[in-house]
Amino acid sequence: MSARESARIVERFERVMMRSAPVPQLVLARGAGCRVWDVDGTEYLDFLAGIAVNSLGHAHPVFVDAVARKAATAAHVSNYFATAPQVELAERLCRLTGGSRVFFGNSGAEAIEAALKLTRLTGRTRVLALEQSFHGRTTGAVALTGKAALREDFEPLLPGIRHLDSTVEDLEAAMSEDVAALVVEPIKGEAGVLPLPEGYLRAARRITREYGALLVVDEIQTGAGRTGDWFAYQREGVVPDAVTLAKGIGGGIPIGALVTFGAASDLFVAGHHGSTFGGNPLAAATANAVLGEIERAGLLQNARIRGEQLREGILAIGSALVREVRGRGLLLGIGLAGPEALRVAQLALQHGLIVNAANESSIRLAPPLVVTEDEVAEFLTLFRRVLAEAERLLPAERHSGAHPGTHPEGTPA
Ligand SMILES: *Cc1c(COP(=O)(O)O)cnc(C)c1O
Repeated sequence: MSARESARIVERFERVMMRSAPVPQLVLARGAGCRVWDVDGTEYLDFLAGIAVNSLGHAHPVFVDAVARKAATAAHVSNYFATAPQVELAERLCRLTGGSRVFFGNSGAEAIEAALKLTRLTGRTRVLALEQSFHGRTTGAVALTGKAALREDFEPLLPGIRHLDSTVEDLEAAMSEDVAALVVEPIKGEAGVLPLPEGYLRAARRITREYGALLVVDEIQTGAGRTGDWFAYQREGVVPDAVTLAKGIGGGIPIGALVTFGAASDLFVAGHHGSTFGGNPLAAATANAVLGEIERAGLLQNARIRGEQLREGILAIGSALVREVRGRGLLLGIGLAGPEALRVAQLALQHGLIVNAANESSIRLAPPLVVTEDEVAEFLTLFRRVLAEAERLLPAERHSGAHPGTHPEGTPA
């Protein structure tokens, strides 16, 4: 299959797109279920799902129908007016989370921004977050993000934020009466799928409550059934003060939400916050349809069962390159024995698999929640070949004295 159309589009991309991220080499045209095709017709098994976004896979009839129907009636009306889909989605999210009020934005970063503004209304200004966390790229969200490399070029950023190690001791030492909130991801997805230590979330709930600080859980990547529960915090039996949502709740339509619980629901008053597109009927109706289908089709259970099949299958390959498999449900991180994730992701592409090198030694998997037993089996067959080829190629390079820095550029993670 020729790659001429891809090459032409990449060339145009390089000329016109902002240089804010690496240049992608793959140009995708369409998808169906867990498969996507590039503009030259090459097929891939998609085990990334738009970074945990395409919950129902690509072009699911429920998604297509919701978008088409709402586009044909009223896609947008502004927030001077209420719509039934927006109210229905807020009710649904309250039912699924146990929360009591919802603010809608259009992305994860906007959900985080809303949460940051909420923390200011407590009358306190300090916010705690975790090292290696990821909360988005807007200035507030990036200030909260625990990766210095993403922050440094943009300082001075929002003041009052401190990043802690993910230990209860560190949290106890950092906590005081002037802390407004602690913001945590139950599983750090961008960091390579690193779950919080056992018991951390429960301890964080106890400690934040003791000091009158808010516990904000960032479920943007882990939510909407991805880990086999609707939201990962529910598995720990904690009730947070606020939850941020985006990615998978829309199944591909841009939407973000901040859900508040109990007294935190009384902090915002009229005039405090807003968004032109936030919760518009097109996005809200689509998210309703997506979440309704996750419920109807039993996709939480599918995430648990297929996640176990995937985890056990990867470990059963017995590759010396695989050190561990982390995460839960259909959000898995393969910890590699060395800094080979970019090369493994690139080899995977050559075998028709889309996976993600979340960092130099972690492969992230986040297939659609509709993934079938046969598709997981097909993935494992192909991934076994990828690992075998990687083992053949990589140690040879290492023995020849090549350093990581001399490796050719890998996939655009
Ligand atoms: C993706 C992500 C964000 C940012 O979401 P955007 O929609 O890209 O702004 C924030 N937090 C977590 C945990 C994420 O995975």
